[in-house]
Amino acid sequence: MDKLPSDLAQILVPWYEINARPLPWRQDPTPYRVWVSEIMLQQTRIEAARGYFERFMAALPTVRDLAAASEETVLKLWEGLGYYSRARNLRKAAIQIVDRYGGQLPADVKALRALPGIGDYTAGAVASIAFGLREPAVDGNVLRVCARLTRCPDSIGEKSVKDAFRQALRERYPAAGKACGAFTSALMELGETVCLPGTPDCGLCPLAAVCAAHRAGRETDYPVMPEKAPRRVQPRTVFLLEHQGKIALARRPDKGLLAGLWEFPNVEGTLTKEQVLRQAAAWGCEPVDALPCGQAVHIFTHLEWHMTGWQVSCAAAPDRFVWTTAAQRTERYPVPSAFRAFKERI
Ligand code: SF4
Repeated sequence: MDKLPSDLAQILVPWYEINARPLPWRQDPTPYRVWVSEIMLQQTRIEAARGYFERFMAALPTVRDLAAASEETVLKLWEGLGYYSRARNLRKAAIQIVDRYGGQLPADVKALRALPGIGDYTAGAVASIAFGLREPAVDGNVLRVCARLTRCPDSIGEKSVKDAFRQALRERYPAAGKACGAFTSALMELGETVCLPGTPDCGLCPLAAVCAAHRAGRETDYPVMPEKAPRRVQPRTVFLLEHQGKIALARRPDKGLLAGLWEFPNVEGTLTKEQVLRQAAAWGCEPVDALPCGQAVHIFTHLEWHMTGWQVSCAAAPDRFVWTTAAQRTERYPVPSAFRAFKERI
């Protein structure tokens, strides 16, 4: 395995200054904006995050605004982005930043790392981009670039590989200051726009002359990927319980998958019409009739929900559920995108 090129920053920073895409979080990269954008961009495509970021910043422009917002307000702004613990942790961290640091993010990687939802990657991104510190931010894109530059024979899923690249990159950072942020952003940008996961665009790459995989003509052999655990398939039955034009929502438990979000009541298994009516009766809804209303699949990281929906007209509205109008579902109750197909049917 080769070493990372010693002149990585000297090549990449000027390249970035010419090629950086004008993304909203890059204008005015305050610590707060960098932090929120980096959390949003985990598990979310740039194009999808753009609108969310602008709405989030318009609604909650400062750390203090975020700390003062209710959890439901923050989740509503996050609705559709998935991985909702990110939003919950953002708010928790904002409260701590107000309590401990007077509303200013700390310019220290250890203190950042100690905040809820901030791991090595986000701490490195905020430290280097917003504070100009010599701290790398190693995500999947950066790992792929590093693995190709060095022809790394080990899986990039190994913690030891990530740690080794983080250390090697730290040694290649420019002197503290603005160029540190440009170097962090340049590595990400190269991975997102040139050194792509499938076929990298080496003809456009400023690192082609120093890239071990490219020199060997073996770009697509790297990175070595970790073996994926197969996803578990779980059939579920989703109930659109309707009473006098209102639809029942239930709140998910505070811990675990989609914690604390609102959902259409649902149970594990694919129920028959008789079982659907029996379940609705057991909830106290006094069901009158049930009609099938389609199927949908939602994929989580380790789990697939294969859902079958039933629209059930009910003569009673037990208070174990919240009975909502369409306007309330839009404005107040964050229903995760897992249920989007059913949401569109009512
Ligand atoms: S030369 Fe090709 S494989 Fe190497 S870093 Fe550039 S785009 Fe990636």
